Amino acid sequence: MTGIHFNWVGGCEIPAVDVAPNINPSDLADCVGEFARADAGQAHEAIAAARAAFPGWSRSTPQQRADLLDRAGTLIHERRAQLGELLAREEGKPLNEATGEVIRAAQIFKFFAGEPLRPGGELMPSVRPGVDVEISHEPVGVIGLITPWNFPIAIPAWKIAPALAFGNCCILKPADLTPGCAHALVAILQEAGAPAGVVNLVMGRGSVVGDALVESPDVDAISFTGSVQTGRAIAARCMQTGKRVQCEMGGKNPLVVLDDADLDTAVSVALNGAFFSTGQRCTASSRLIVTEGVHDAFVDRLRREMLTLRVGHALDPDTQIGPVVDERQLQQDLDYIAIGHAEGAEVIGGSRLDAPTAGFFLQPALLVGTAPGMRVNREEIFGPIASVIRAADDDEALAIANDVEFGLSAGVCTTSLARARRFKRDLEAGMVMVNLPTAGVDYHVPFGGRKGSSIGPREQGGYARQFYSIVKTSYVG
Ligand code: NAD
Repeated sequence: MTGIHFNWVGGCEIPAVDVAPNINPSDLADCVGEFARADAGQAHEAIAAARAAFPGWSRSTPQQRADLLDRAGTLIHERRAQLGELLAREEGKPLNEATGEVIRAAQIFKFFAGEPLRPGGELMPSVRPGVDVEISHEPVGVIGLITPWNFPIAIPAWKIAPALAFGNCCILKPADLTPGCAHALVAILQEAGAPAGVVNLVMGRGSVVGDALVESPDVDAISFTGSVQTGRAIAARCMQTGKRVQCEMGGKNPLVVLDDADLDTAVSVALNGAFFSTGQRCTASSRLIVTEGVHDAFVDRLRREMLTLRVGHALDPDTQIGPVVDERQLQQDLDYIAIGHAEGAEVIGGSRLDAPTAGFFLQPALLVGTAPGMRVNREEIFGPIASVIRAADDDEALAIANDVEFGLSAGVCTTSLARARRFKRDLEAGMVMVNLPTAGVDYHVPFGGRKGSSIGPREQGGYARQFYSIVKTSYVG
Protein backbone atom coordinates (compact mmCIF):
# COMPACT_ATOMS: atom_id res chain seq x y z
CA MET A 1 0.00 0.00 0.00
CA THR A 2 1.73 3.18 -1.15
CA GLY A 3 0.68 6.59 -2.52
CA ILE A 4 -1.88 8.93 -0.99
CA HIS A 5 -5.07 7.51 0.45
CA PHE A 6 -7.89 10.02 0.43
CA ASN A 7 -10.94 10.59 2.56
CA TRP A 8 -14.32 9.35 1.32
CA VAL A 9 -17.19 11.82 1.30
CA GLY A 10 -20.50 11.28 -0.51
CA GLY A 11 -19.18 8.19 -2.31
CA CYS A 12 -16.08 9.96 -3.72
CA GLU A 13 -12.49 10.37 -2.62
CA ILE A 14 -11.91 14.06 -1.91
CA PRO A 15 -8.67 16.05 -2.40
CA ALA A 16 -6.37 16.10 0.60
CA VAL A 17 -5.78 19.35 2.49
CA ASP A 18 -2.96 17.68 4.44
CA VAL A 19 -1.26 14.27 4.47
CA ALA A 20 0.66 12.25 7.05
CA PRO A 21 2.81 9.14 6.72
CA ASN A 22 1.68 5.90 8.37
CA ILE A 23 4.80 4.34 9.88
CA ASN A 24 5.24 0.65 10.74
CA PRO A 25 6.10 0.33 14.47
CA SER A 26 8.05 -2.90 13.74
CA ASP A 27 10.24 -1.12 11.18
CA LEU A 28 10.41 2.65 11.23
CA ALA A 29 11.92 2.59 7.71
CA ASP A 30 8.67 1.09 6.36
CA CYS A 31 6.02 3.66 5.42
CA VAL A 32 2.63 1.94 5.01
CA GLY A 33 1.41 4.89 2.93
CA GLU A 34 0.50 8.56 3.00
CA PHE A 35 -2.95 9.26 4.40
CA ALA A 36 -5.04 12.38 4.02
CA ARG A 37 -5.86 14.43 7.09
CA ALA A 38 -9.20 16.21 6.85
CA ASP A 39 -9.87 19.64 8.30
CA ALA A 40 -13.06 20.78 10.01
CA GLY A 41 -14.49 21.96 6.65
CA GLN A 42 -14.15 18.48 5.18
CA ALA A 43 -15.69 16.97 8.30
CA HIS A 44 -18.70 19.25 7.72
CA GLU A 45 -18.86 18.12 4.07
CA ALA A 46 -18.99 14.52 5.29
CA ILE A 47 -21.76 15.35 7.75
CA ALA A 48 -23.74 17.06 4.95
CA ALA A 49 -23.25 14.03 2.68
CA ALA A 50 -24.49 11.68 5.41
CA ARG A 51 -27.50 13.94 6.08
CA ALA A 52 -28.37 13.98 2.37
CA ALA A 53 -28.15 10.19 2.17
CA PHE A 54 -30.24 9.59 5.29
CA PRO A 55 -33.79 9.90 3.87
CA GLY A 56 -33.05 7.26 1.23
CA TRP A 57 -31.06 4.84 3.39
CA SER A 58 -33.42 5.05 6.36
CA ARG A 59 -36.23 3.93 4.04
CA SER A 60 -34.22 1.21 2.31
CA THR A 61 -35.62 -2.29 2.61
CA PRO A 62 -34.17 -4.73 5.13
CA GLN A 63 -33.05 -6.81 2.14
CA GLN A 64 -30.98 -3.93 0.68
CA ARG A 65 -29.24 -3.41 4.00
CA ALA A 66 -28.72 -7.13 4.53
CA ASP A 67 -27.23 -7.52 1.03
CA LEU A 68 -24.77 -4.64 1.49
CA LEU A 69 -23.49 -5.91 4.83
CA ASP A 70 -23.29 -9.49 3.57
CA ARG A 71 -21.27 -8.45 0.48
CA ALA A 72 -18.93 -6.36 2.65
CA GLY A 73 -18.39 -9.34 4.97
CA THR A 74 -17.60 -11.57 2.00
CA LEU A 75 -15.09 -9.08 0.54
CA ILE A 76 -13.34 -8.60 3.89
CA HIS A 77 -13.05 -12.36 4.31
CA GLU A 78 -11.75 -12.86 0.77
CA ARG A 79 -9.03 -10.22 1.41
CA ARG A 80 -8.12 -11.37 4.93
CA ALA A 81 -4.48 -12.10 4.06
CA GLN A 82 -3.86 -8.69 2.50
CA LEU A 83 -5.82 -6.81 5.19
CA GLY A 84 -4.13 -8.83 7.95
CA GLU A 85 -0.74 -7.80 6.62
CA LEU A 86 -1.84 -4.17 6.47
CA LEU A 87 -3.09 -4.33 10.07
CA ALA A 88 0.13 -6.02 11.27
CA ARG A 89 2.19 -3.36 9.51
CA GLU A 90 0.34 -0.31 10.76
CA GLU A 91 -0.55 -1.41 14.31
CA GLY A 92 2.08 -4.04 15.12
CA LYS A 93 -0.10 -7.06 16.00
CA PRO A 94 1.55 -10.35 15.02
CA LEU A 95 0.28 -11.48 11.62
CA ASN A 96 -1.82 -14.38 12.94
CA GLU A 97 -3.62 -12.14 15.45
CA ALA A 98 -3.99 -9.39 12.85
CA THR A 99 -5.54 -11.82 10.36
CA GLY A 100 -7.80 -13.10 13.14
CA GLU A 101 -9.00 -9.55 13.73
CA VAL A 102 -9.80 -9.13 10.03
CA ILE A 103 -11.79 -12.39 10.06
CA ARG A 104 -13.62 -11.07 13.13
CA ALA A 105 -14.55 -7.92 11.17
CA ALA A 106 -15.98 -10.11 8.38
CA GLN A 107 -17.98 -12.13 10.92
CA ILE A 108 -19.36 -8.92 12.44
CA PHE A 109 -20.63 -7.78 9.02
CA LYS A 110 -22.17 -11.22 8.41
CA PHE A 111 -23.89 -11.12 11.83
CA PHE A 112 -25.31 -7.64 11.25
CA ALA A 113 -26.43 -8.60 7.74
CA GLY A 114 -29.05 -10.70 9.54
CA GLU A 115 -30.16 -7.97 11.97
CA PRO A 116 -32.40 -5.93 9.60
CA LEU A 117 -34.33 -9.15 8.91
CA ARG A 118 -34.85 -10.10 12.54
CA PRO A 119 -38.13 -8.93 14.06
CA GLY A 120 -37.69 -5.84 16.23
CA GLY A 121 -41.16 -4.52 17.05
CA GLU A 122 -43.99 -5.43 19.39
CA LEU A 123 -47.75 -5.11 19.13
CA MET A 124 -49.82 -5.20 22.29
CA PRO A 125 -53.31 -4.29 23.47
CA SER A 126 -53.77 -0.97 25.20
CA VAL A 127 -55.19 -0.63 28.69
CA ARG A 128 -57.92 1.39 26.91
CA PRO A 129 -60.62 -0.40 24.93
CA GLY A 130 -60.37 -0.31 21.12
CA VAL A 131 -56.76 0.87 21.11
CA ASP A 132 -53.62 -0.97 19.93
CA VAL A 133 -50.10 -0.11 20.98
CA GLU A 134 -47.15 -0.63 18.64
CA ILE A 135 -43.53 -0.43 19.71
CA SER A 136 -41.17 0.02 16.77
CA HIS A 137 -37.49 0.80 16.22
CA GLU A 138 -36.46 3.66 13.95
CA PRO A 139 -33.02 4.78 12.71
CA VAL A 140 -31.35 7.46 14.82
CA GLY A 141 -29.98 9.54 11.90
CA VAL A 142 -26.37 10.58 11.24
CA ILE A 143 -23.88 8.94 13.58
CA GLY A 144 -20.26 9.93 14.20
CA LEU A 145 -18.02 6.93 14.92
CA ILE A 146 -14.75 7.75 16.69
CA THR A 147 -12.34 4.83 17.10
CA PRO A 148 -8.97 4.03 18.75
CA TRP A 149 -5.87 2.46 17.19
CA ASN A 150 -5.69 -0.86 19.02
CA PHE A 151 -8.37 -2.76 17.02
CA PRO A 152 -8.16 -0.77 13.79
CA ILE A 153 -10.56 -2.93 11.76
CA ALA A 154 -12.71 -4.75 14.34
CA ILE A 155 -13.88 -1.63 16.22
CA PRO A 156 -14.81 0.33 13.05
CA ALA A 157 -16.62 -2.84 11.89
CA TRP A 158 -18.59 -3.23 15.11
CA LYS A 159 -19.76 0.37 14.86
CA ILE A 160 -20.36 0.73 11.08
CA ALA A 161 -22.21 -2.60 10.65
CA PRO A 162 -24.97 -1.96 13.23
CA ALA A 163 -25.20 1.71 12.22
CA LEU A 164 -26.04 0.68 8.64
CA ALA A 165 -28.11 -2.37 9.60
CA PHE A 166 -30.57 -0.17 11.51
CA GLY A 167 -30.82 2.43 8.72
CA ASN A 168 -28.39 5.12 9.88
CA CYS A 169 -25.74 6.97 7.87
CA CYS A 170 -22.31 7.40 9.40
CA ILE A 171 -18.99 9.18 9.41
CA LEU A 172 -15.98 7.18 10.59
CA LYS A 173 -13.13 9.07 12.28
CA PRO A 174 -10.37 6.52 12.90
CA ALA A 175 -7.33 7.01 15.16
CA ASP A 176 -4.46 9.00 13.61
CA LEU A 177 -2.06 6.06 14.07
CA THR A 178 -4.10 3.52 12.11
CA PRO A 179 -5.91 5.07 9.15
CA GLY A 180 -4.98 2.22 6.77
CA CYS A 181 -7.50 -0.40 7.91
CA ALA A 182 -10.25 2.21 8.18
CA HIS A 183 -9.53 3.40 4.63
CA ALA A 184 -9.54 -0.17 3.29
CA LEU A 185 -12.79 -0.95 5.12
CA VAL A 186 -14.63 2.10 3.79
CA ALA A 187 -13.33 1.37 0.27
CA ILE A 188 -14.76 -2.16 0.56
CA LEU A 189 -18.14 -0.75 1.61
CA GLN A 190 -18.15 1.51 -1.48
CA GLU A 191 -17.25 -1.48 -3.64
CA ALA A 192 -19.98 -3.55 -1.99
CA GLY A 193 -22.49 -0.94 -3.19
CA ALA A 194 -23.06 1.48 -0.30
CA PRO A 195 -25.10 4.37 -1.72
CA ALA A 196 -23.22 7.71 -1.84
CA GLY A 197 -22.98 9.35 1.58
CA VAL A 198 -24.16 6.36 3.62
CA VAL A 199 -20.61 5.71 4.88
CA ASN A 200 -18.05 8.53 4.96
CA LEU A 201 -14.45 8.55 6.14
CA VAL A 202 -12.67 11.52 7.68
CA MET A 203 -9.14 10.65 8.76
CA GLY A 204 -7.52 13.42 10.75
CA ARG A 205 -6.84 14.87 14.18
CA GLY A 206 -9.25 14.09 17.00
CA SER A 207 -9.13 17.68 18.19
CA VAL A 208 -10.12 18.89 14.68
CA VAL A 209 -12.21 16.25 12.92
CA GLY A 210 -13.50 14.40 16.00
CA ASP A 211 -14.37 17.72 17.58
CA ALA A 212 -16.31 18.82 14.48
CA LEU A 213 -18.43 15.65 14.66
CA VAL A 214 -19.12 16.11 18.37
CA GLU A 215 -20.07 19.78 18.00
CA SER A 216 -22.19 19.59 14.83
CA PRO A 217 -25.96 19.95 15.31
CA ASP A 218 -26.37 17.75 12.21
CA VAL A 219 -24.86 14.73 13.95
CA ASP A 220 -27.48 12.88 16.00
CA ALA A 221 -25.27 10.47 17.92
CA ILE A 222 -21.65 9.66 18.72
CA SER A 223 -20.25 6.21 19.34
CA PHE A 224 -16.76 6.54 20.81
CA THR A 225 -14.11 4.04 21.86
CA GLY A 226 -10.88 5.30 23.37
CA SER A 227 -9.39 6.75 26.52
CA VAL A 228 -11.32 7.81 29.60
CA GLN A 229 -10.16 11.40 29.35
CA THR A 230 -11.34 11.88 25.76
CA GLY A 231 -14.52 9.84 26.27
CA ARG A 232 -15.69 11.77 29.31
CA ALA A 233 -15.11 15.11 27.58
CA ILE A 234 -17.03 13.90 24.49
CA ALA A 235 -19.90 12.55 26.60
CA ALA A 236 -20.23 15.86 28.47
CA ARG A 237 -20.38 17.81 25.19
CA CYS A 238 -22.88 15.39 23.70
CA MET A 239 -25.15 15.92 26.69
CA GLN A 240 -24.92 19.69 26.17
CA THR A 241 -25.71 19.44 22.45
CA GLY A 242 -28.48 16.86 22.96
CA LYS A 243 -26.78 13.94 21.23
CA ARG A 244 -27.16 10.29 22.00
CA VAL A 245 -23.76 9.03 23.15
CA GLN A 246 -22.01 5.76 23.81
CA CYS A 247 -18.43 5.61 25.15
CA GLU A 248 -16.33 2.50 25.69
CA MET A 249 -13.18 3.54 27.53
CA GLY A 250 -10.36 2.27 29.69
CA GLY A 251 -9.92 -0.60 32.08
CA LYS A 252 -7.75 -1.80 34.96
CA ASN A 253 -8.90 -5.36 34.65
CA PRO A 254 -8.26 -7.83 37.49
CA LEU A 255 -7.51 -11.52 37.06
CA VAL A 256 -8.03 -13.29 40.37
CA VAL A 257 -6.15 -16.55 40.88
CA LEU A 258 -7.50 -18.54 43.83
CA ASP A 259 -5.72 -21.24 45.84
CA ASP A 260 -7.60 -24.06 44.12
CA ALA A 261 -6.88 -22.84 40.56
CA ASP A 262 -5.40 -25.24 38.04
CA LEU A 263 -1.90 -23.76 37.72
CA ASP A 264 -1.47 -24.56 34.01
CA THR A 265 -4.76 -22.84 33.23
CA ALA A 266 -4.06 -19.85 35.46
CA VAL A 267 -0.59 -19.22 33.99
CA SER A 268 -1.73 -19.55 30.39
CA VAL A 269 -4.78 -17.32 31.03
CA ALA A 270 -2.57 -14.68 32.69
CA LEU A 271 0.08 -14.84 29.97
CA ASN A 272 -2.47 -14.38 27.21
CA GLY A 273 -4.59 -11.77 29.00
CA ALA A 274 -1.71 -9.62 30.21
CA PHE A 275 0.84 -9.69 27.38
CA PHE A 276 -0.69 -10.78 24.06
CA SER A 277 -1.40 -7.94 21.63
CA THR A 278 1.43 -6.20 23.53
CA GLY A 279 -1.03 -5.62 26.40
CA GLN A 280 -2.70 -2.99 24.23
CA ARG A 281 -6.23 -4.23 24.83
CA CYS A 282 -8.81 -2.40 26.89
CA THR A 283 -9.67 -5.83 28.35
CA ALA A 284 -6.04 -6.78 29.16
CA SER A 285 -5.36 -8.28 32.61
CA SER A 286 -3.27 -5.62 34.29
CA ARG A 287 -3.74 -6.67 37.93
CA LEU A 288 -3.05 -10.29 38.84
CA ILE A 289 -4.57 -10.79 42.30
CA VAL A 290 -3.29 -14.07 43.70
CA THR A 291 -4.24 -15.73 46.99
CA GLU A 292 -1.61 -16.74 49.51
CA GLY A 293 -1.54 -20.52 48.95
CA VAL A 294 -0.75 -20.36 45.23
CA HIS A 295 1.05 -17.01 45.00
CA ASP A 296 4.69 -18.12 44.93
CA ALA A 297 4.15 -21.09 42.60
CA PHE A 298 2.07 -18.94 40.22
CA VAL A 299 4.59 -16.09 40.13
CA ASP A 300 7.47 -18.48 39.58
CA ARG A 301 5.76 -20.19 36.62
CA LEU A 302 4.48 -16.98 35.09
CA ARG A 303 7.88 -15.30 35.35
CA ARG A 304 9.56 -18.24 33.56
CA GLU A 305 6.97 -18.42 30.79
CA MET A 306 6.84 -14.65 30.31
CA LEU A 307 10.58 -14.50 29.78
CA THR A 308 10.30 -17.05 26.93
CA LEU A 309 7.79 -14.95 24.94
CA ARG A 310 9.30 -13.98 21.58
CA VAL A 311 9.09 -10.24 20.95
CA GLY A 312 9.70 -9.11 17.39
CA HIS A 313 8.56 -7.87 14.00
CA ALA A 314 4.82 -8.34 13.55
CA LEU A 315 5.32 -10.07 10.17
CA ASP A 316 7.86 -12.60 11.52
CA PRO A 317 5.96 -15.90 11.93
CA ASP A 318 7.89 -16.66 15.15
CA THR A 319 6.78 -13.45 16.86
CA GLN A 320 4.37 -13.81 19.78
CA ILE A 321 4.48 -10.20 20.99
CA GLY A 322 4.72 -7.37 18.46
CA PRO A 323 6.03 -3.86 19.04
CA VAL A 324 4.43 -1.12 21.10
CA VAL A 325 2.36 1.06 18.77
CA ASP A 326 4.48 4.23 18.89
CA GLU A 327 7.18 6.17 20.69
CA ARG A 328 4.77 7.99 23.00
CA GLN A 329 3.13 4.77 24.19
CA LEU A 330 6.55 3.11 24.61
CA GLN A 331 7.70 5.99 26.79
CA GLN A 332 4.49 5.74 28.84
CA ASP A 333 5.13 2.01 29.37
CA LEU A 334 8.74 2.62 30.45
CA ASP A 335 7.62 5.42 32.76
CA TYR A 336 5.10 3.14 34.49
CA ILE A 337 7.75 0.42 34.91
CA ALA A 338 9.97 3.03 36.58
CA ILE A 339 7.05 4.25 38.72
CA GLY A 340 6.35 0.65 39.82
CA HIS A 341 10.01 0.20 40.74
CA ALA A 342 10.06 3.47 42.68
CA GLU A 343 6.88 2.43 44.49
CA GLY A 344 8.65 -0.73 45.70
CA ALA A 345 7.77 -3.41 43.16
CA GLU A 346 10.27 -6.04 42.04
CA VAL A 347 10.49 -5.58 38.27
CA ILE A 348 10.97 -8.66 36.09
CA GLY A 349 11.65 -8.01 32.38
CA GLY A 350 10.53 -4.67 30.95
CA SER A 351 13.67 -3.71 28.99
CA ARG A 352 13.59 -1.98 25.64
CA LEU A 353 14.82 -4.53 23.06
CA ASP A 354 16.93 -4.19 19.94
CA ALA A 355 15.87 -6.07 16.81
CA PRO A 356 17.13 -6.32 13.21
CA THR A 357 14.72 -3.50 12.31
CA ALA A 358 14.37 -0.25 14.23
CA GLY A 359 11.05 -0.43 16.09
CA PHE A 360 9.35 0.02 19.44
CA PHE A 361 10.14 -3.38 20.99
CA LEU A 362 9.58 -3.88 24.70
CA GLN A 363 10.11 -7.04 26.73
CA PRO A 364 6.96 -7.82 28.76
CA ALA A 365 7.18 -6.83 32.42
CA LEU A 366 5.89 -8.36 35.62
CA LEU A 367 5.75 -6.14 38.70
CA VAL A 368 5.83 -8.38 41.77
CA GLY A 369 5.04 -7.46 45.37
CA THR A 370 2.75 -4.55 44.57
CA ALA A 371 0.06 -3.04 46.79
CA PRO A 372 -3.44 -2.10 45.59
CA GLY A 373 -2.92 1.61 46.22
CA MET A 374 0.15 1.97 43.97
CA ARG A 375 -0.27 4.04 40.80
CA VAL A 376 0.56 0.99 38.68
CA ASN A 377 -2.54 -0.66 40.16
CA ARG A 378 -4.87 2.29 39.71
CA GLU A 379 -4.02 3.90 36.34
CA GLU A 380 -4.40 2.30 32.92
CA ILE A 381 -0.93 1.61 31.45
CA PHE A 382 -1.93 -0.01 28.11
CA GLY A 383 1.27 -1.96 27.59
CA PRO A 384 2.72 -5.47 28.14
CA ILE A 385 2.93 -4.90 31.89
CA ALA A 386 1.09 -6.71 34.68
CA SER A 387 1.39 -6.30 38.42
CA VAL A 388 0.92 -9.03 41.00
CA ILE A 389 -0.97 -8.32 44.22
CA ARG A 390 -0.93 -10.89 47.02
CA ALA A 391 -4.30 -11.44 48.76
CA ALA A 392 -4.86 -13.29 52.05
CA ASP A 393 -8.05 -15.05 50.94
CA ASP A 394 -11.05 -14.96 48.57
CA ASP A 395 -12.71 -12.06 50.38
CA GLU A 396 -9.66 -9.86 50.19
CA ALA A 397 -9.06 -10.80 46.54
CA LEU A 398 -12.60 -9.80 45.63
CA ALA A 399 -12.37 -6.51 47.52
CA ILE A 400 -9.09 -5.61 45.78
CA ALA A 401 -10.48 -6.61 42.37
CA ASN A 402 -13.40 -4.21 42.76
CA ASP A 403 -11.47 -1.35 44.37
CA VAL A 404 -10.74 0.65 41.18
CA GLU A 405 -12.72 3.23 39.23
CA PHE A 406 -12.99 0.91 36.20
CA GLY A 407 -15.18 -2.11 35.51
CA LEU A 408 -14.68 -3.43 31.98
CA SER A 409 -13.59 -7.06 32.22
CA ALA A 410 -12.61 -9.27 35.17
CA GLY A 411 -11.50 -12.87 35.48
CA VAL A 412 -11.20 -15.61 38.07
CA CYS A 413 -9.28 -18.89 37.95
CA THR A 414 -10.69 -21.57 40.24
CA THR A 415 -11.73 -25.22 40.07
CA SER A 416 -14.64 -24.65 42.48
CA LEU A 417 -18.09 -24.09 41.04
CA ALA A 418 -19.22 -22.32 44.20
CA ARG A 419 -16.30 -19.87 44.07
CA ALA A 420 -16.81 -19.29 40.35
CA ARG A 421 -20.47 -18.47 41.01
CA ARG A 422 -19.58 -16.06 43.78
CA PHE A 423 -17.00 -14.16 41.73
CA LYS A 424 -19.26 -14.14 38.66
CA ARG A 425 -21.92 -12.49 40.80
CA ASP A 426 -19.76 -10.09 42.80
CA LEU A 427 -17.08 -8.86 40.38
CA GLU A 428 -18.04 -5.32 39.35
CA ALA A 429 -17.40 -5.61 35.62
CA GLY A 430 -19.34 -5.65 32.39
CA MET A 431 -17.75 -8.95 31.42
CA VAL A 432 -16.58 -11.79 33.69
CA MET A 433 -14.35 -14.63 32.54
CA VAL A 434 -14.03 -17.90 34.45
CA ASN A 435 -10.80 -19.79 33.66
CA LEU A 436 -10.43 -17.66 30.51
CA PRO A 437 -8.34 -14.58 29.68
CA THR A 438 -9.99 -11.24 30.51
CA ALA A 439 -9.45 -10.31 26.84
CA GLY A 440 -11.07 -12.24 24.00
CA VAL A 441 -14.82 -11.90 23.41
CA ASP A 442 -17.51 -13.14 21.04
CA TYR A 443 -19.17 -10.90 18.45
CA HIS A 444 -22.79 -11.99 18.91
CA VAL A 445 -23.15 -10.99 22.58
CA PRO A 446 -23.00 -7.64 24.39
CA PHE A 447 -19.64 -5.97 24.96
CA GLY A 448 -19.04 -3.16 27.44
CA GLY A 449 -18.20 -2.17 30.97
CA ARG A 450 -19.42 -0.63 34.21
CA LYS A 451 -18.29 2.21 36.48
CA GLY A 452 -15.70 4.49 34.83
CA SER A 453 -15.21 2.19 31.83
CA SER A 454 -18.40 2.86 29.90
CA ILE A 455 -21.15 5.36 29.25
CA GLY A 456 -24.37 4.38 27.49
CA PRO A 457 -25.72 1.11 26.11
CA ARG A 458 -23.69 -1.97 25.20
CA GLU A 459 -22.08 -2.57 21.82
CA GLN A 460 -22.20 -5.69 19.63
CA GLY A 461 -24.63 -8.53 19.13
CA GLY A 462 -28.37 -7.98 19.33
CA TYR A 463 -27.85 -5.35 22.08
CA ALA A 464 -26.35 -2.94 19.52
CA ARG A 465 -29.96 -2.15 18.52
CA GLN A 466 -30.37 -0.17 21.76
CA PHE A 467 -27.92 2.49 20.62
CA TYR A 468 -28.38 2.41 16.85
CA SER A 469 -32.18 2.65 16.84
CA ILE A 470 -34.78 4.77 18.61
CA VAL A 471 -37.89 3.27 20.12
CA LYS A 472 -41.25 4.71 19.07
CA THR A 473 -44.51 3.86 20.84
CA SER A 474 -47.57 4.36 18.59
CA TYR A 475 -51.19 4.23 19.78
CA VAL A 476 -53.76 3.26 17.15
CA GLY A 477 -57.44 3.83 17.94
P1 NAD B 1 -7.82 8.30 22.47
O1 NAD B 1 -8.89 8.66 23.44
O2 NAD B 1 -6.58 9.06 22.48
O3 NAD B 1 -8.39 8.44 20.98
C1 NAD B 1 -9.56 7.75 20.57
C2 NAD B 1 -10.16 8.49 19.38
O4 NAD B 1 -10.64 9.76 19.82
C3 NAD B 1 -9.16 8.76 18.27
O5 NAD B 1 -9.79 8.60 17.02
C4 NAD B 1 -8.81 10.22 18.52
O6 NAD B 1 -8.32 10.87 17.36
C5 NAD B 1 -10.15 10.77 18.95
N1 NAD B 1 -10.08 12.05 19.68
C6 NAD B 1 -9.03 12.54 20.39
N2 NAD B 1 -9.35 13.76 20.88
C7 NAD B 1 -10.61 14.05 20.48
C8 NAD B 1 -11.49 15.17 20.66
N3 NAD B 1 -11.12 16.24 21.36
N4 NAD B 1 -12.71 15.11 20.10
C9 NAD B 1 -13.10 14.02 19.40
N5 NAD B 1 -12.31 12.95 19.17
C10 NAD B 1 -11.08 12.96 19.71
O7 NAD B 1 -7.57 6.72 22.64
P2 NAD B 1 -6.46 5.82 21.89
O8 NAD B 1 -5.13 6.16 22.47
O9 NAD B 1 -6.67 5.86 20.42
O10 NAD B 1 -6.88 4.35 22.37
C11 NAD B 1 -6.46 3.77 23.56
C12 NAD B 1 -7.57 3.84 24.59
O11 NAD B 1 -8.74 3.22 24.07
C13 NAD B 1 -7.27 3.08 25.87
O12 NAD B 1 -7.64 3.87 26.98
C14 NAD B 1 -8.16 1.85 25.80
O13 NAD B 1 -8.53 1.30 27.02
C15 NAD B 1 -9.33 2.38 25.04
N6 NAD B 1 -10.08 1.30 24.40
C16 NAD B 1 -11.28 0.96 24.94
C17 NAD B 1 -12.02 -0.08 24.37
C18 NAD B 1 -13.35 -0.46 24.95
O14 NAD B 1 -14.15 -1.03 24.23
N7 NAD B 1 -13.62 -0.18 26.21
C19 NAD B 1 -11.53 -0.73 23.24
C20 NAD B 1 -10.30 -0.35 22.72
C21 NAD B 1 -9.58 0.69 23.31
